[in-house]
Amino acid sequence: MITAPRPAHPLAPGWLTVPDDANDFAPGVWPASIERTASGEIEMGGVRARHLAERFGTPVMLLDEQDVKDRAARAQRAFAEATARHGGSCRVYYAGKAFLTSEIARWMLAAGLNVDVCSRGELETALAAGVPADRIGFHGNNKSVAELERAIGAGLGTIIVDSAIEVERIGAIAERLGSAQNVLVRVRSGVHADTHDFLATAHEDQKFGFSLEEAERVVARIRELRSVTFLGLHCHIGSQIFGTAGFRESASRVLELHERLLEGGPVPLMNLGGGFGIAYTRADTPAPIEDLADGIVDAVAHECQARGIEIPVLAFEPGRSIVGPAGITLYEVGTTKPVAVDAAGGAAERLYVSVDGGMSDNVRPALYGAQYSARLASRASSADPALVRVVGMHCESGDVVVDHEYLPGDVTPGDLLAVASTGAYSAAMASNYNHVPRPAVVAVRAGRARVILRGETIDDLLARDAGLGATEGEE
Ligand SMILES: *Cc1c(COP(=O)(O)O)cnc(C)c1O
Repeated sequence: MITAPRPAHPLAPGWLTVPDDANDFAPGVWPASIERTASGEIEMGGVRARHLAERFGTPVMLLDEQDVKDRAARAQRAFAEATARHGGSCRVYYAGKAFLTSEIARWMLAAGLNVDVCSRGELETALAAGVPADRIGFHGNNKSVAELERAIGAGLGTIIVDSAIEVERIGAIAERLGSAQNVLVRVRSGVHADTHDFLATAHEDQKFGFSLEEAERVVARIRELRSVTFLGLHCHIGSQIFGTAGFRESASRVLELHERLLEGGPVPLMNLGGGFGIAYTRADTPAPIEDLADGIVDAVAHECQARGIEIPVLAFEPGRSIVGPAGITLYEVGTTKPVAVDAAGGAAERLYVSVDGGMSDNVRPALYGAQYSARLASRASSADPALVRVVGMHCESGDVVVDHEYLPGDVTPGDLLAVASTGAYSAAMASNYNHVPRPAVVAVRAGRARVILRGETIDDLLARDAGLGATEGEE
């Protein structure tokens, strides 16, 4: 049967189509194990949404444990196979900044990945989780002397250096500790990629890395230091990238310097960073990781062949694409409010749906204008779809959770709402804005749910307030 498409709401953006069924799950947007039970309720990892909300409260972030593990293993396999075809090898690092707990670090290890960190807290989490130091990479444009001492003392696999000052610091610390520290030199290739397009300039105006010219001098300096070992160049061109063109252009530029550096000594490795995109809404159509891996690695291998140089060990750093699509956030609807809005074709109405979290548990909509998808989680409904804006409970009009979505028009207080693809950069970026406790993160799998990051309580918040009798820090 062919039915005419429903007319779009005048306030809906062009990419958002009216769904035939506002209870469905857009393919690629939701975790692998999500489904609706016969009663219409959402179930994930074999655990029902209502049960999870009752046990852990709302909001709560849920991770599909098997989906995370499968995505990690799949990325590892994709890059290993792509490089092996050219007689090369790879190292895949999980970018811990996307979301790191000790459990996640152990899942990554088990899947054969290494772990990237970019602060003392992430470093200590990885070490405490039992990640061998030689499987950790350490990023950052301003690592403190104390952080470097800890990293070098622990015997970290690689430090990605980001300034000339840092090179001297690492040299002095490693010398003092009698160790030899492996480093990569981060470069700006001039290529900056953002989803569909990439921008290539000679000079990028941003804080990370060295220009290709500066990098050559920095590598020469590193090679003078006996306590520092140069492994290769590092370049990360951006995040939420869908195609391979930006990676290929960047790799080509980096390889030119890589080849020149081979004249002064070995350059065994090249790290092309992360940034592989995911689907936040049905309008996003990222390529499978296998296609990206093949496209990037084939291009690098061909260019190495053309230059007559050996293909280096290729390193990659996916974060978002490992945990992002495997996570959802469950909220409870508190209020709904129709708001009359002036639209191009006359007055229109937008339904505001307020939930019990917001920018404190996911700041990406407020920070980047990021789009998300949502579904009723506690029930299915056959009510006509209504255009909604899901908003949080914070004192900020930019406190948006899902900017544009069609939900069943009978969405009502007490309903549970699930927001998709919140596994990356939401819990990781959570704050206590408005003194809101940060929610728990719960892993679900095979009918079981367990907390992997405890939620905060009001007592946790009050305990930090030194005016409430805490005496710590008094002189
Ligand atoms: C953020 C970051 C990554 C991970 O990016 P994703 O978009 O999460 O894959 C990898 N490498 C570096 C250097 C980064 O800063």
